[in-house]
Order: sequence, then C-alpha cells, then structure tokens
Amino acid sequence: MKNLTKARAKSLTKALAKSLTKALAKNLMMALAVAAMLVGGSMFVGCSEKGESLKMITEATFPPYEFLRGQEIVGIDVEICKAVAAKLGRPFEVESVNFDSVIPTVISGKADLAAAGITVTEDRKKNVDFSIPYVKTGVVFVYKKGTPYAKGSDAKGRKVGVQSGTTSEAFVTDELKQQPERFDSPAAAVAALKAGRVDVVIADIDPAKNCVKGEAELALSGFITSEEYAVAIRKGQPELLKAINETIAEAKADGRLAKWVAVYTAEADKLKEK
Ligand code: GLN
Repeated sequence: MKNLTKARAKSLTKALAKSLTKALAKNLMMALAVAAMLVGGSMFVGCSEKGESLKMITEATFPPYEFLRGQEIVGIDVEICKAVAAKLGRPFEVESVNFDSVIPTVISGKADLAAAGITVTEDRKKNVDFSIPYVKTGVVFVYKKGTPYAKGSDAKGRKVGVQSGTTSEAFVTDELKQQPERFDSPAAAVAALKAGRVDVVIADIDPAKNCVKGEAELALSGFITSEEYAVAIRKGQPELLKAINETIAEAKADGRLAKWVAVYTAEADKLKEK
C-alpha cells in the first residue's frame, strides 16, 4: 500500500514535472517567437526604409498630373514621388485605382504616398497628413459654347457631371445642395456632356483643359474654387513627410517642377489630339 502510494506519488511528481517542463518550454518558445518577431520586425522596418519600394498610389486619368503612356503611368505627380524615392534611396512603384480609393489605400498602409492632384481639404486632413502644396489651382466649368456657365450658381438645378470622390463632387453636393452625375474620370464626364447626357461638367482646370483640346464646341469658365494640391500620407510619419516637403521645395527652387508641368502638359495634349 505504502509502496503503491509512493509509486503513485512518484509518477504524479513525474507527470507534474513533465507538464511543468512542457509549459515552461511552451512559454520559452513563445518568448523566443516574440523576440524573433521583434528582431525580425525591426529588421523589416530597417529594410523597408532602404531596400523596399516606395509605393505611390494614384488615379491615372488626370492629365497632366498622371496619365497613361501606353501601359506606363507618367506625369507631374509621378515625377514628384519618384524624386522622393530617389532622396530616400528606395526603388519606386506606382499603381492606379479609382479616385475614391486613393486616400483609403494610403491610410491602410498598402501604399506610402498618395498623389493624384489631391486637393488639401479640412475633411481629408482628419485622415491623412499633407505635404506642403505644389500647385495652386481650382475647378472650372466645362460647357458647350452655346450654353456658357460662369459662376457656381449658374449650375443650380442643372445636370452636373463630376468625377466621383472629388472636390468637384463636393462643390455640387455642399454648395449647390444637389446631386451630381458621377463618373470615373473627368474625360468620361466630358464625353457625357458631348453626348448631351449632362448639361455641364465641373473638373480641375488642368485635366479640363486637356479634355477640351481639339473640341471646337466646348469651352471652359474661370475658376469657381481656389484649391491646392499636395501629397498625402498615413498620419504620424514625420520622417517621410520631411523627405516629401524637401523634395517639393527643391523641385520648385531648381525649376524641375516647372519643367515637369511643361513637359507633361505638352505630352498629354498631344495624346489627346491623336
Ligand atoms: N483635385 C480634386 C480632388 O482632390 C480632383 C482630383 C482627381 O480627380 N484626381 O478632389
């Protein structure tokens, strides 16, 4: 009996020791895994600063800021972001999505920089950090010459075409207090104007100018808003913001920005005229 108890106690002790060892081992493994993740994680961050591509997200139907040259996305915004990548010594990548998805993509971390002729607005500032501005601009009416539009209120009660998610859309909903007809690009909105499906289009001046190139029946109004474009990034990245701001300031000062504007405006106009 005694022996049996002893034996049982012994086996119990053994089992306890075994499970304790197991638990310890498990904890140790866990600790090691966490440590590895931390080390790996910080190494990964280090890598992403050097070896990993700097990813730009844009919407490539916005000439001359971004447009397609065959399959390649080119334009003023692309040059700015490429110059940021060069400053950081990182390879560069660019991808295009619908304009409504540009800012969400950068917030989710799937891209590092959002540049798509993005106007700085108080609303957007709640969700992203903006660089210093690189263009002063605004939206205009695109209309058929027979039916001119000059000031915002001229569009009251009219069928107004806009690109989804833009400040042009906000102008119609917030200022005119009506619903616009929404399109994926300024060019699609202008095509609807030509076809008589909308009365007028509101779009940023530079893509609007591109849309009316070679279109004898169409004309543009003066500015109906005053806006500025900047690069948007996920909040809380002071180093990246500094690199972008320095890049923009340098490109303004040394004439590169003006050159990109001239070169890409000419190329986009030529593509439109084809
Ligand atoms: N500047 C406008 C905006 O930020 C339009 C930009 C665009 O369509 N790419 O809303």
